[in-house]
Amino acid sequence: MLAVDPRPSASWQPTYGIWGDELGALPQYVVRRRVPHPELRAHGEYPLPRDYLVLDNDALQVALPLDGVDVRTGRLTDDEVAALRSEARVVVDARGARPDGRVARDPAPAQTAFGIVVRPEDAAPALQGASALLMDWRTDWADRPDPHATPTFLYAIPLGDDEVLLEETCLAAAPGLPIPELRARLRRRLLSRGVPQSAVDEPLVREIVRIPMRGRGLPPVPGTYAVGTAGRGGNVVTGYSVAHSLARADDLAWSIADGHLPRHTDPGAGADLFREMGLRALLRLDVEGTLALFDAFGRLPGAAQRDFMSRDSAGAGLAAAMWGMFLRMPVAGKRRLIAATLGPARRR
Ligand SMILES: Cc1cc2nc3c(=O)[nH]c(=O)nc-3n(C[C@H](O)[C@H](O)[C@H](O)COP(=O)(O)OP(=O)(O)OC[C@H]3O[C@@H](n4cnc5c(N)ncnc54)[C@H](O)[C@@H]3O)c2cc1C
Repeated sequence: MLAVDPRPSASWQPTYGIWGDELGALPQYVVRRRVPHPELRAHGEYPLPRDYLVLDNDALQVALPLDGVDVRTGRLTDDEVAALRSEARVVVDARGARPDGRVARDPAPAQTAFGIVVRPEDAAPALQGASALLMDWRTDWADRPDPHATPTFLYAIPLGDDEVLLEETCLAAAPGLPIPELRARLRRRLLSRGVPQSAVDEPLVREIVRIPMRGRGLPPVPGTYAVGTAGRGGNVVTGYSVAHSLARADDLAWSIADGHLPRHTDPGAGADLFREMGLRALLRLDVEGTLALFDAFGRLPGAAQRDFMSRDSAGAGLAAAMWGMFLRMPVAGKRRLIAATLGPARRR
């Protein structure tokens, strides 16, 4: 087996979160922090009935060893990937969403975020009593009471015993909301909640997130099998893909070892249309519509919340979850959602 990567021994830097029920056969030691019932906040407050896990990237890399693999260092073009067919029976393209590097002024829908890591005592005013905030959509990021700009939320997650990540996130915008705007919003929000200015301006760590929502958005290189965000592995509504890739890796490896590729292993394929509708709505909804949507999400039963968020949910489950959210929205919110799903893009 051969693997090619520009930096094969690099350690993974992003803070990865998955749900507790998505850990699968991975050992518990890959969990850096288990967060029971993180909250969603919009107009209401909703503790979510699942545990959220922050992964320990170093431990995860240990749990996914490359023993027996011929590892080469290299950054491959599409043609070079295709040429690997001369060396390998199966070529898997896992080069991610932007194998040629970041695209300047990338117009594609993207999730962007700016985060800081601070001590728990400094983060406490931001959490306002919650153990963690998966999404806090309240609008204290704004400098006016009734903002009309692109909505963003606070993601506030304890990482270990003595660190908390506070991140201002734009779930989806096209092009992605600029990082300086997110940084300014985070600062305004945190200071207004009473986080010490020194912790905001001199954090332990800073994190920048850029996730192209549609992954690479191109068909696979001919003759290759594209996985992860190089293929269709990303969830276009949440931007997440890690749990899906981890869940599929073993089956894919065994299939290849058996001499064939999995053909119909993507139970979520039929749901892609609904996810595209969801992304369309997220790209267009205004602040009030977004709050109404996530209030409705918070009121869904746990199983429907899971169907909405998982990359692996089937079309029927996802459609039922989306319909359930629609039914739980007030009339004005329903109107906004219909207009957003069918109407022109949000203006910035
Ligand atoms: C800060 C941050 C936080 C995030 N948090 C989460 C989260 O909590 N949960 C979640 O699910 N997702 C999260 N994401 C998104 C997640 O990182 C991506 O969706 C995920 O990493 C995509 O996985 P992938 O394997 O498809 O691609 P990548 O992780 O991008 O991996 C691509 C691999 O291919 C290599 N490569 C790239 N180009 C080439 C080339 N030309 N030739 C050879 N090799 C190449 C790279 O070195 C890399 O090893 C986050 C992203 C960021 C930036």
